[in-house]
Amino acid sequence: MTRSAEMLSYLPFTRPTIDEETIAGVSDVLRSGWITSGPFVREFEEKLSILFGGRQVRVFNSGTAALEIALRIAGIGAGDEVITTPLSWVATSNVILTVGARPVFVDIDPVTRNIDLNTIEAAITPATKAILPVDLAGLPVDRDRLYEIANRHGLRVIEDAAQSLGSLWNGKWIGSTGDLVSFSFHPNKNMTSIEGGCLVMTDESEATLAEQYRLQGVLRSGYDGMEVEILGGKSNLTDVAARVGIGQLARLDEFNRLRRDLSREYFRQLDRPEFHALGLGLPVADFEQSNCHMFQVILPETALSRAEVMEKLHELGIGTGVHYPAIHLFKLYQSLGWKPGDYPHAEKAGRAILTLPLFPTMTTADVSRVTGALLNILQS
Ligand SMILES: *Cc1c(COP(=O)(O)O)cnc(C)c1O
Repeated sequence: MTRSAEMLSYLPFTRPTIDEETIAGVSDVLRSGWITSGPFVREFEEKLSILFGGRQVRVFNSGTAALEIALRIAGIGAGDEVITTPLSWVATSNVILTVGARPVFVDIDPVTRNIDLNTIEAAITPATKAILPVDLAGLPVDRDRLYEIANRHGLRVIEDAAQSLGSLWNGKWIGSTGDLVSFSFHPNKNMTSIEGGCLVMTDESEATLAEQYRLQGVLRSGYDGMEVEILGGKSNLTDVAARVGIGQLARLDEFNRLRRDLSREYFRQLDRPEFHALGLGLPVADFEQSNCHMFQVILPETALSRAEVMEKLHELGIGTGVHYPAIHLFKLYQSLGWKPGDYPHAEKAGRAILTLPLFPTMTTADVSRVTGALLNILQS
C-alpha cells in the first residue's frame, strides 16, 4: 500500500450531513425550556405536509412506529393478512406481527429487487386487508399497477417509503398521492431527525387517530379536557429531533441531487466490460425517479464469500453494508412456518447483495476508490 493510500480516511457506507446552522438550532431548543414535542414538531409536520401536497402528516420517534400506527389506523389486527416483500429491513414485517396480523410474503422481481407485482393477486385471500410494498434503495414500486391491484380487490395500501423520501412517481413526490405512506428519518436515510419517521394520511380523522396512537390514546380539549378511548403507546418525536429534521429538510433536494450524481458515477465506472465479465449485478439505472438512497450490487459467485469481500474492503478503509438478508429466513420467521426455497429471488439477493458507500459529502474520487478496490478483490 502506498503512503498516501494509508493516509486515506475510512469511507463509511453512509454518513449523515449535519450543518452548523442545525447544530446551533438544536442548542437553541435545548436552552428554550421546552425540549419534547412542541412547536418544532408542529413546524416539522407543516413543512412535510407542503412537500406532500398539503396532505395530513404526523411525525413519530421512528419509522417503525409510523408503520405500526399506519396498520392500526387501517384497522389491521388478528386474523388479517398483509402482503409484503421478503427483501427489506425486518421492521417491514415485524410491525405486521406486532399488530397481531400475518405477513404474506411474495417474491421480489430480481431486476428491481422490489415486490413482484405479478405475484400479488395469486396471494390474495379473503383475509387479505392490505399490501405493504417497499421502495428498496429508493427505487419506486410501480404505483399505477400497485393501486390498480389494490383498488380492484378493495385493499388498503401501506407504503413503506422509509427509503424513498424525495423519490418520484409520475413526476410527483412519493407520499403526495396514495393511501397511507410511511417514511423514516433514521440517520442512514436520505435525511434524518436522529431517529424518527412520519406518516402521510388520507384525512383528518386518520391524523387524529395517529395523534392518539402516538401518545397513550389521549385526546385533549379546551383547557382541561382529557379523554382516552383507545389504547395508544408512546412514540412522539421530541422538539430536539424535530429541529434536526427541519434543518435536514431544507437540504433534502441538494442531498438527493448529490446522491444521484454519485450513483451516475458508480454506473459510469461499473457498467463496463471488466465488471460485466465478472458477473457483477447492477441496480436499475434510475436517476429520474429514485432518490438514490443506496447503491447496491449483487456480488458474483466467486471463490470469495460476501463476508470476505466486505473484510477485504474494510482493510482498504471502505465500509459496506448488507440491506438485507431475506426476512423469512430469520429464526423467528422460520419458527412461524417459512423455509429456505420459499422466495428464491429474495434469497439470492439476500445472500449476495452489497451496499457500497453513498452519501452526499462523498466525492467521485471516493467512488473510484471503491470501484477500483472492488475490481482488484473480485479479480484476485
Ligand atoms: C429504515 C426502515 C424502516 C424503519 O425505520 P426506523 O426509523 O429505523 O424505525 C422500515 N422499513 C424500511 C424499508 C427501512 O429502510
